Amino acid sequence: MNSINSNVRIVLVGTTHPGNVGATARAMKTMSQNNLYLVNPKEFPSAVASARAAGADDILANASMHDDLKSAISDCQMVITTSARTRSIPWPMVSPRACAEILADFNVGNVAIVFGRENSGLSNEEMELGNLVLQIPTNADYSSLNLASAVQVVCYELFLKCHADDGDAKDEKVTYVSQEKIEMFYEHLEECMIEIGYHDVNYPRRLMHRMRRLFNRALLDESEWKILRGFLAKIQEKQK
Ligand code: SAH
Repeated sequence: MNSINSNVRIVLVGTTHPGNVGATARAMKTMSQNNLYLVNPKEFPSAVASARAAGADDILANASMHDDLKSAISDCQMVITTSARTRSIPWPMVSPRACAEILADFNVGNVAIVFGRENSGLSNEEMELGNLVLQIPTNADYSSLNLASAVQVVCYELFLKCHADDGDAKDEKVTYVSQEKIEMFYEHLEECMIEIGYHDVNYPRRLMHRMRRLFNRALLDESEWKILRGFLAKIQEKQK
C-alpha cells in the first residue's frame, strides 16, 4: 500500500527559539502535515513564531501544548525519536525514507515523530520512550541540521510516500514505444533528412548518433511517436 496509513504528529521538545517553531509549522504545512505538539517551548505563543510560520499560523493556533514528552505521546502506538548523532543505544536506526515506508506498510495508529532541543537534542530518558530512532543521513563531520530543516526533510519523505499512488497511476497511462518502433522512426528520420539535403551519407558527422541520443533521452510515448512520424511524412510529401 502506498500511502501513510497512520495518524502522524510532529512533536517538538523544549524548543528554545520561537522562530524554529514557526519555521516547523511552515515546513509541515507545505508537506500536508497538520498535527503539531509542543512540549515546554521556551517562548510560545510568540510573534516571532507567527512571522516565521508565514501563513501556516493555523498550525500554530491548533498546536497541542504539553509539560512533558510522556503526556504528548500517551495515546500513540508508535514513537519515532530523531537524533543527529549515532548514540550507543540498542534501538534500530532508520532513514526518513525507511520511516515513511514503515508507516505506509503498517497501520500502526497514532504515530509521534519527536524532535529535540536545538542545543542538546533529546535526553536519553526521552530517547527511551521511542520504538525507532530516525537519523537523516548527512556529512559525517557535520550532522546536525537546523530543527525546522530536519522536520522538513522528514515530512517531505512522508509526503512523497503519500503521493506515490498518484505518480504510479500517471505512469501507467503512458505507453512508451517499443524498440522496434523507435528503429522505424530513426530510419524514417534518416531517409527524410537525406531527401531534403540535410544529411549527407558521405559526410554523416555522427548526425544519426546525436539524433538517437536526443530521442532516446526523451523516451517517446506512442502519441509523440505518431506525431513525429506524421511530421516526417508531411515533409517528404512536400519535398516531392
Ligand atoms: N546538538 C544536538 C543537535 C540538535 S539539532 C544533538 O547533538 O542532538 C535539533 C534537533 O533537530 C535534533 O534533536 C533532531 O530532532 C533534529 N535533527 C537535526 N539533525 C538531525 C539529523 N541529522 N537526523 C535526525 N534529526 C536531526
